[in-house]
Amino acid sequence: MMGYNHALTGAAAWVAVATTSANVPSLGLIHVEPWQLLTGTLVCAGAALLPDLDHHSATIARSVPVAGRMAAGIVNTASGGHRKGMHSLLAIVACWFVTGWVGTLTWSPNWWHQALPAAGVFMIMALFAFATRALKIAKSWPLAWQLGTIGSAAMFLFLPDQLGWFQLCVTVGFATHILGDFLTVGGINWLWPLTIKAPKFTHKIHGLNRLWKRNGYVSLPIVGRTGSLAERVLGAGCALYAMAGLAASALAAA
Ligand SMILES: [Zn+2]
Repeated sequence: MMGYNHALTGAAAWVAVATTSANVPSLGLIHVEPWQLLTGTLVCAGAALLPDLDHHSATIARSVPVAGRMAAGIVNTASGGHRKGMHSLLAIVACWFVTGWVGTLTWSPNWWHQALPAAGVFMIMALFAFATRALKIAKSWPLAWQLGTIGSAAMFLFLPDQLGWFQLCVTVGFATHILGDFLTVGGINWLWPLTIKAPKFTHKIHGLNRLWKRNGYVSLPIVGRTGSLAERVLGAGCALYAMAGLAASALAAA
């Protein structure tokens, strides 16, 4: 899937998890204020781009000149290649724990009356930047980073204690990306580093050989190939759903 559509599925996923409005179908797993729903939607959209840091031409690999591609190269090597370690159940679990740990790293400057979750500030800034750029809200990376800086600074300076949703939000975004790739023809190896290849007798069974492949990847290819019409329809549906959820939440609070 393209970065734009990954970001839209991430945005919709957070609305699905965190909207409690009766007017929009949702899971309502966590109660958040309308501003947290909005910022969480952007954070989740940005997190939905993270697994592709294992690919040198992914949207976020271009976020910082040179360093972005270098980071992508390191992640690619460390995770075994594109759509391997970063696209697995293990990565989702790791994302949960790493994000939780990041949230505990604080900084106590002299000029502020309480400890600031410094690493969290940076992570939210980056995720805001990724989301605004991928969603084409920002037309360039410098503008995306400016929006990320302003958004994250405002959040942490005025509401530093209200980040209970952060760990869940990032992990939901990360997992949504992998689910999105599962819907493409390439599929996913959920169990990486374990690979369970499809048995030989299934190779010629039409249909089944698209769901469970010789290389061990599994797929539910309703979205087809990257950039397909089905993918764009899914992205548009997610955009409409996210906007409906945000609007319902804002109206309920008004
Ligand atoms: Zn991917």
